[in-house]
Amino acid sequence: MIIPELDHPSFHLALAQFDQAAEAMNLDDKLRERLKTPQRSLMVGLPIRMDNDHVKVFMGYRVQHDSARGPSKGGVRYHPDVNLGEVAALAMWMTWKTALAGVPYGGAKGGIKVNPNELSLSELERLTRRYAAEIFPLIGPDQDIPATDIGTNQQIMAWIMDTYSQQVGFSVPGAVTGKPLSIGGSLGREEATGRGVVEVTLEALRYKGIHLDKTTVVVQGFGNVGSHTARIMSEAGAQVVGLSDVSGGIYNPGGLNVPDIIQQHKSGIPISEIPGGDHVSNEELLTLDCTVLIPAALSEQITIRNASNLRCKILTEAANGPTTLQADAILRDRNIFIIPDILANSGGVIVSYFEWVQDVQRFFWNEGDIRQRLHEIITAAFHRTLSVAEEKKTTMRLAALMGGIDQVAQAHTVRGLYP
Ligand code: NAD
Repeated sequence: MIIPELDHPSFHLALAQFDQAAEAMNLDDKLRERLKTPQRSLMVGLPIRMDNDHVKVFMGYRVQHDSARGPSKGGVRYHPDVNLGEVAALAMWMTWKTALAGVPYGGAKGGIKVNPNELSLSELERLTRRYAAEIFPLIGPDQDIPATDIGTNQQIMAWIMDTYSQQVGFSVPGAVTGKPLSIGGSLGREEATGRGVVEVTLEALRYKGIHLDKTTVVVQGFGNVGSHTARIMSEAGAQVVGLSDVSGGIYNPGGLNVPDIIQQHKSGIPISEIPGGDHVSNEELLTLDCTVLIPAALSEQITIRNASNLRCKILTEAANGPTTLQADAILRDRNIFIIPDILANSGGVIVSYFEWVQDVQRFFWNEGDIRQRLHEIITAAFHRTLSVAEEKKTTMRLAALMGGIDQVAQAHTVRGLYP
């Protein structure tokens, strides 16, 4: 039974995945009950003075799913579809993700129901600061640390950090991650999720015995995660043949010039208008012939409608929740190797963890250290997951979920139930 306030397809998906894993690992019934409901959920109304002097109220959310292993951690999403159920699902996935990677955090997520592209910069600043002030009682470097996600960026993190610092009366860089370098951001954070996506994809290619020079890649979404993933994948020697953003996609079986497309996209040209290949819809993009398909946009992109038509060998889930439960079963039967979201996109939270450690210690690392440590942590998580999948003859998704849930269950078991 789902609490009515959390009724959202992503929360149904997160719960169904949890149930499957809990069943497979024979998880204690009492723990199952506890882990199905978020620890704290806050919903806030955000009245904002618009530039035309009207007042508009936006809805904001912050959900902390679990904090048994440490402060909770999770991004902030600005998107018109954000609601409590979606944020709760993303918070639950964060709990398993941090535990699977072995970083000492619980899971959280936040968001505002807004299309940030429809606001002026000063409206966006007022909205962000009001949101930070409203969720202030829940956040902080020892409590819950926000970061970037869809529709948010370094500037937004700087405003949240500043608002938090104004409230306490001194600068607290560790209150958020994904912020600019000048206020305690980390080298390598901006590209971290994409770099992690590439690290695990390279491990999967090795495991499957596929050479990089025979590897073609299609990436859906060309924001922070998608653009860095495409760039690093092509720098590694793979051929990127398909790319898209919300406007549509571009396909060239002979290979796309990724650095050139990044330049054009930065100057404001949507992918659907960039020359150099055939223009395809986002739906068509997902079924292009390729070695690796990387959804890096929204959830529920691979569904019962298109799962039978996918033509990739490896699916690396850079986005959160891109594959529905029914589609997952179809892909399993078709023997497509899936690197599940909680493993594939964990590079972001791993380098966020490095950023927080650097902020707390007031001691900053060089980019080589960050890349090396990211490589060690994420490839170790990949191989732990692969070993469990092989040993238990199960999927990478179930193995990853079981790995994360087991860590959280151990923490709850030793801490006990208060009071
Ligand atoms: P972003 O806002 O920077 O980029 C999103 C991209 O998706 C844009 O290119 C947008 O045009 C495209 N898009 C939007 N709607 C689309 C649609 N219907 N079809 C195709 N493309 C569409 O967001 P991001 O930070 O790159 O996040 C992308 C995904 O990665 C999300 O699922 C997010 O939760 C996940 N993620 C992000 C991070 C991070 O560090 N930013 C970390 C882990 C997971």
